[in-house]
Amino acid sequence: MTPDSRYQVLFEPVKIGPVTAPNRFYQVPHASGMTNALPRVRAAFREAKAEGGWGVVCTGTCSIDPTSDDTPLPFGTMWDDNDIRAHALMTEAVHRHGALAGIELWHGGASVMNRASRLPPLSPSGIPWMATHIGFMGNLRPKSMDRGDFRAVLRWQADAARRARSAGFDIVYVYAGMGYLGYEFLLPEYNQRTDAYGGVIENRVRFVREMIEVSKDAVGKDCAVALRISLEELRARAGRHGESEAHEVISLLADCPDLFDVKMDSSPTDCSASRFSAEGSHEPVIEFVKRLTRKPVVGVGRFTSPDTMVSQIRRGILDLIGAARPSIADPFLPRKIREGRLDEIRECIGCNICISSWHDGVPVRCTQNPTAGEEWRRGWHPERIERAVQEERILVVGGGPAGLECALTLGRRGHHVTLVDAERAFGGRLGFETRLPGLAAWGRVLDYRLGRLKVMPNVQTFLGSPVGVEEIIELAPDRVVLATGARWTKMLYSTMELPVGRLEHPQVLTPDDIAAGRLPQGPTLVFDFDNYYMGGVLTEHLAAQGIAVSYATPAGHASAWTIMTNELPLVHRALARRRVCMTTLHLLSAFDGETATLRHLFSGEELQIGCRSVVIVGLRTPRDELMAALDQRAAEVSAAGIRGVQRAGDALAPGAIVHAIHGGHRVGREIDLPEGAAPYRRDFPIGAAPTQEAPAGAESGWREGGAAPRDGVQA
Ligand code: ADP
Ligand code: SF4
Repeated sequence: MTPDSRYQVLFEPVKIGPVTAPNRFYQVPHASGMTNALPRVRAAFREAKAEGGWGVVCTGTCSIDPTSDDTPLPFGTMWDDNDIRAHALMTEAVHRHGALAGIELWHGGASVMNRASRLPPLSPSGIPWMATHIGFMGNLRPKSMDRGDFRAVLRWQADAARRARSAGFDIVYVYAGMGYLGYEFLLPEYNQRTDAYGGVIENRVRFVREMIEVSKDAVGKDCAVALRISLEELRARAGRHGESEAHEVISLLADCPDLFDVKMDSSPTDCSASRFSAEGSHEPVIEFVKRLTRKPVVGVGRFTSPDTMVSQIRRGILDLIGAARPSIADPFLPRKIREGRLDEIRECIGCNICISSWHDGVPVRCTQNPTAGEEWRRGWHPERIERAVQEERILVVGGGPAGLECALTLGRRGHHVTLVDAERAFGGRLGFETRLPGLAAWGRVLDYRLGRLKVMPNVQTFLGSPVGVEEIIELAPDRVVLATGARWTKMLYSTMELPVGRLEHPQVLTPDDIAAGRLPQGPTLVFDFDNYYMGGVLTEHLAAQGIAVSYATPAGHASAWTIMTNELPLVHRALARRRVCMTTLHLLSAFDGETATLRHLFSGEELQIGCRSVVIVGLRTPRDELMAALDQRAAEVSAAGIRGVQRAGDALAPGAIVHAIHGGHRVGREIDLPEGAAPYRRDFPIGAAPTQEAPAGAESGWREGGAAPRDGVQA
């Protein structure tokens, strides 16, 4: 199908050195949480994107040597020939759809702790990366690279690049960004060398240039070499010859790689959440690159609008539209643009739950796309779904994220669905939450689902319809799904995190009260032990209404869990801008209408805060009265012909929106599966048989099949 002429430019092929990308849609390297131990899960995840029209599909970080070991965080490896087959699974999958496959070869330098390999991290000058950041804290300081180390790293890169070729990759990366080894050479604070690799910028780029050169030699003439580089910090430094050091680095390397993949320097700005930055936020930093090189340039910016993409190309900012998150949220984004199905695009909401998966060390999860990471293990395709063997009449009660996703999935399978909600609009919790500061983009969760439901003749929707047991029995559907959500409670916890009862006072509120339009009176304390976004964003919201707000939490930071979504520093900044007084490591123990008493988590010392209202953002409990009532009248339910009642989303177990969407989708897919069916297939490593010789000098007492006798001692 010919694309809309406005978007034609996005489907032009682009030459990247010796290879040609079939279009301008480029899935840049991004973490997937899928290591070499999950080769099939990984290949299927990447394949979905190639099938969905991405012209280039890349891996996440692939370590070139055990001196680059980020354990327990997930990363791929290209350490020896045993790794080739696992990657070939992905390149074959990507090539099946005519896309190019790229591999992000990577050495973490001083930003990895080598916790598993126990080898000293390597660095230009022995300076640790972000030494006080919990994720980077390690007691083993990096060593300064000596001449032997230089030779070794260049050899590892070349060997890994050669293996990448054997695995079928078309683009091989050199990584000089985000605190990793190549990047540390570019910054004088980390690179204090006095030899040919340190000092003036011409010397500081030397190592990166050599990495590119050895890669080119290794891969030969039919594979491209890309440079991934962070430019934010360099752009902020005045240059000696150019406008900034970023300009100088790009000029010095202008002809060296086949492609520039340009980005920001740290996760909170590189993968910034929509709460704090808009689509295209990298542009002010990277806009100059194309002026200084003839090589193609790819960059990201949470692009989901084809108009913005076209504008990036037309204005000469980028040649290729890079995407990580938008390609996770909708692997079929390019095809939908090509086929003019713009209203079917599942736009990324910028919540960064996908990034939290990497911090959690698990395969990627996505709020918008419940099939992400489930392509192989659950057999969930992002666009196709099997029709139900038997069409049923299914009532879904509750039209929040879980109910909407469930109704949509059931409808796609051909069931006859009735979706009801007591409120005057669908959306559940999102009706309120999308009105909180910075969360408007989360409305895309609703927009996408409501848009799809609207065109489904087999799904009927009813608003303003509170449903009870009587109505359900009268309606007598084949099955019922309760997606009735959860409510916030006034529960408090002890220092041992044991529930110690509710805090009762007329001026103690929960987020539900504020959602219902009740504003706290006078100076207010927000006490947060939910730890995700609600406490912080509600504080911002109240402050914006002119209320004097303080914030207290037993955690060490405001919205402490948002460290997982890259938002934590920005949450602190936002609260500071609102002049919110913040108390960490304290529990709330009492409130008498004028004073809240806080107790230090460890010392027990008391602290009094004058306030007239308290908002507790703590525990949520399922709104499951309807389930209990149906249970009580099980005989009547069964006599009405109702075969099953189940809960989905917060009604089952309160969670984030990602859980509600996944839960709703799962119920939709599996409602008619026999009980006890396996939840998912388990992946396992391939091509990693222990065929290697023991390292020289090793005297192993271990032998396959049992312990070997050693030093005369029988094990
Ligand atoms: P989730 O995140 O699990 O989707 P939400 O709290 O966002 O949960 O949404 C739950 C929705 O269910 C709300 O819109 C609420 O109005 C609706 N709801 C709850 N109980 C009933 C009921 N008995 N009848 C109809 N709608 C209900
Ligand atoms: Fe976008 Fe959120 Fe999905 Fe990540 S989890 S891809 S930020 S919608």
